[in-house]
Amino acid sequence: MRSLLLIACLIFISSCKNPQEVVYSDALLSSNRKYIEENAALLEAAKMNISDTSFVSLKEYGKDFFYDMKYATEDNFLKTKVYDCPECYLRFKTVKALVKANQAFVKLGYKIKIYDCYRPLDVQKKMWAITPNATYVADPEKGSIHNRGGAVDLTLTDYSGNELDMGTKFDHFGPEAAHDYKNLSAEVLANRKLLKDIMLRNGFKSFASEWWHYNLTNASTLPISNFVWDCKN
Ligand SMILES: [Zn+2]
Repeated sequence: MRSLLLIACLIFISSCKNPQEVVYSDALLSSNRKYIEENAALLEAAKMNISDTSFVSLKEYGKDFFYDMKYATEDNFLKTKVYDCPECYLRFKTVKALVKANQAFVKLGYKIKIYDCYRPLDVQKKMWAITPNATYVADPEKGSIHNRGGAVDLTLTDYSGNELDMGTKFDHFGPEAAHDYKNLSAEVLANRKLLKDIMLRNGFKSFASEWWHYNLTNASTLPISNFVWDCKN
């Protein structure tokens, strides 16, 4: 009886709450439309029984990302292009977590910008041949979480695509890129914290020496792959 009263009380309280007036900007309204589209794509994938470990293209499931696929250009630490074309493929479960994280960022006025996603093992070997230094490149013998489709390199931007200041550029291999490096402005520390908090809340783990790198939890159990995406599209 007491629990029934408690339930009635809770229903009463929630229905009597004063709805707060929320003012949505055009950008936010357009983003909400995109959530519906994204969730519809995810629902469709569930109906089609796409397995969590299948490789899928992020752009099929998330419309609200910016892309700057550094290894499909010469603008990376290798100074050479190692992908034939810029695509972001990941295991489906990594994509689902990433779409959820981006939805949380969009609600706050930000978007994820992607630098790198799944990386075929042959590309890892190519990178190792150019820079055979385990401090900068994962040894292809062991493989990287990028080779397993469970890692993503990213930053945050505003709605127009302007990058937030994270203190260093992507692939800055120095102590300043580490999460425990605190000799940075309050703004940079707040930006890194925002990125980390929301990624961790959505199933990712951070990587101590690189503010831009996130691994899906338990991604090390995924097999290394050499699947190569199609560049015709
Ligand atoms: Zn990475």
